[in-house]
Amino acid sequence: MTAIIQIENLSKQYGSGTKALSDVSLDIQEGEIIALLGPNGAGKTTLISVICGLVVPTGGTVRVGGHDIRTDWRAARKLIGLVPQEIALEPFEKVMNCVRFTRGLYGEGPDDAYIEQVLRSLALWDKRDAATRELSGGMKRRVLIAKALAHRPKVLFLDEPTAGVDVALRREMWEVVDRLRREGVTIILTTHYLEEAEEMADRIGVINHGRLLLVRPTSELMGEFGRKTLTIEVT
Ligand code: ATP
Repeated sequence: MTAIIQIENLSKQYGSGTKALSDVSLDIQEGEIIALLGPNGAGKTTLISVICGLVVPTGGTVRVGGHDIRTDWRAARKLIGLVPQEIALEPFEKVMNCVRFTRGLYGEGPDDAYIEQVLRSLALWDKRDAATRELSGGMKRRVLIAKALAHRPKVLFLDEPTAGVDVALRREMWEVVDRLRREGVTIILTTHYLEEAEEMADRIGVINHGRLLLVRPTSELMGEFGRKTLTIEVT
């Protein structure tokens, strides 16, 4: 089976300074949930940004659904939904309109039945007519996910979906990911938390100093290294 994402020997150096990625190779299969685990500055956001075509790599290739992200950006980008770390929403816009608008940006026609399905799966349907500024932090994060799903991408990227949120919101995010998993969405998420990676992901990739140190099925990794060792390694 061809992987939905194929990453080969990817590297990124910012200017003449930091080497943020060094020779990263990884295949991600459709329907898989993979967590990229690593401390501050490890290169997680850079990796996601390169895969999504937002940052140009210094070397290597990325294919999404067989499309090269550099030469066939439009086709590749349609398959990708990205939820960035920062919450940036138009405060006076209604939830439903936010999602409709994002769909339009991808050149997709209106499909309110699909948007309803997305908002229901994110427990946001009751808030469809609320302005985003009226929502709680957890709801705002779910609106960002709804926007990222607006054009029916095959792959969803969540960049530190639980950074700076409390335990209850973190659990809520885990449940959202679980629901999306059942719908067959491929998910790549970044996190600092081992227990979060363990909770959500089928495979965990450990990244540090721009290198993908290892990628293993979650159960295998936890069995081999144990939580204590891994926590020491990545913090
Ligand atoms: P965090 O968990 O703190 O978000 P991260 O694992 O996502 O960190 P990156 O943001 O990818 O790490 O950063 C990797 C390295 O690249 C860091 O040393 C960072 O300072 C550097 N870096 C990131 N973006 C830029 C940029 N635009 N210009 C120069 N250096 C950058």
